[in-house]
Amino acid sequence: MKQEMEYYMDTIPEVGLAARGKETLWLNPNKTGQNTQADVEISSLKIRDAGERLKRFAPYIQKVFPETSKSEGIIESELREIPEMKKNLNIKWNAGISGKLLLKMDSHLPISGSVKARGGIYEILKYAEQLALLAGLLSPEEDYSKLAGPEFRKFFGQYKIQVGSTGNLGLSIGIISAKLGFQVIVHMSADARQWKKDLLRSKGVQVIEYKSDYGAAVAQGRKESDSDPMSYFVDDENSEDLFLGYAVAGERVKRQLEEMKIQVDREHPLFVYLPCGIGGAPGGVAYGLKQIYGNHVHCFFTEPVQACCMLFGMATGLHHKVCVQDFGISGKTEADGLAVGRPSAFVGKLMEKYVSGISTIEDKKLYQLMKDLMETENIFIEPSACASFAVFLQGEGFRQYIENEGLTNYMEQAVHIAWATGGNMVPEKEAKAYLAAGEEFHKEVF
Ligand SMILES: *Cc1c(COP(=O)(O)O)cnc(C)c1O
Repeated sequence: MKQEMEYYMDTIPEVGLAARGKETLWLNPNKTGQNTQADVEISSLKIRDAGERLKRFAPYIQKVFPETSKSEGIIESELREIPEMKKNLNIKWNAGISGKLLLKMDSHLPISGSVKARGGIYEILKYAEQLALLAGLLSPEEDYSKLAGPEFRKFFGQYKIQVGSTGNLGLSIGIISAKLGFQVIVHMSADARQWKKDLLRSKGVQVIEYKSDYGAAVAQGRKESDSDPMSYFVDDENSEDLFLGYAVAGERVKRQLEEMKIQVDREHPLFVYLPCGIGGAPGGVAYGLKQIYGNHVHCFFTEPVQACCMLFGMATGLHHKVCVQDFGISGKTEADGLAVGRPSAFVGKLMEKYVSGISTIEDKKLYQLMKDLMETENIFIEPSACASFAVFLQGEGFRQYIENEGLTNYMEQAVHIAWATGGNMVPEKEAKAYLAAGEEFHKEVF
């Protein structure tokens, strides 16, 4: 194994840099962008079906989570232009951004304040629907708000949901499952923040804590769930339903861009920057966008330098057969939402021809960027979410990409979306501590 890794470190410069814990931008040589027949596996039909299911559930969501009433039970976030942050990035970080910079504020998604409110909630709703339909308690034409009734809570209470999480997935799954009436067990890796565990326990969720990393928490959760016939396991390493829940974002963003009168085509390229842990969220969102915009959207994944599992997996083509430790990298990062050492078993492979590149970023810069966004736009997002600015710090590599794609003349008309994946649920006290850390790191970086 070791020898094979050394071969990749020697022959792919970005893998070599990443293995030394250095920031880098890997450009994907396998990107073709063409949809092929194989895509029927997770086709636009399935994404549409997921979108329809979320619509059926909207009356229920609106009823039990009144904070969604503005959007009538549709869980969606704002897409906001952040011109002051763009200035900051260009002046202070020498980012050279042309065109518009937007923030996709999944950090402020209702219910669980992170991108996991897309995939995680979708998967549980789908499971609940399936159980209720099979039991003859529900039909698809009915008003799903009836699911809030005590008879349904009693019915779902016979079933158990389990999931492994670094924090945010557990929050989403835990909150929605407990609301429906399921028994829930969340297996939390060592990276998970205390307040997330406390919050879940306050909602009646059973939280099991592990001293080990994410992979181990998932493995244990899966094992316990498999041994219980009434238990359903949300499998972040393999789940197509999670992926589809994320992919619905494509259609939603399309509508938002249209409302903002922002055009996307060859001469108006769209760039999307997605923080990546195991790959499900960024993969699903990128997949959804690719189905709509094809070659006109350019999707980059971003990872912490110490947890760049997707970069290793995709650049070597070994995907989930490798983990960051194989390359001598720790997997430990302050960006708890991205603290994953081994990529998903299917996302990297599925996205091989779609992803434009993967960039890495140092933890201390995440804190710094978090503070910058707060100061320029008065928006708080968590450190993981700030990885969405990582590519802007890789000027030379990014320019190379623009040139390769023949986009140099169109960059003034480009639109960049930094996908802010989490933050809203972070308690005030924690947020203050993060910002203070940003202050400290500022001195180190500048
Ligand atoms: C989970 C998470 C991600 C990445 O999602 P994956 O599916 O693990 O790749 C990014 N940011 C935050 C805040 C998250 O919680």
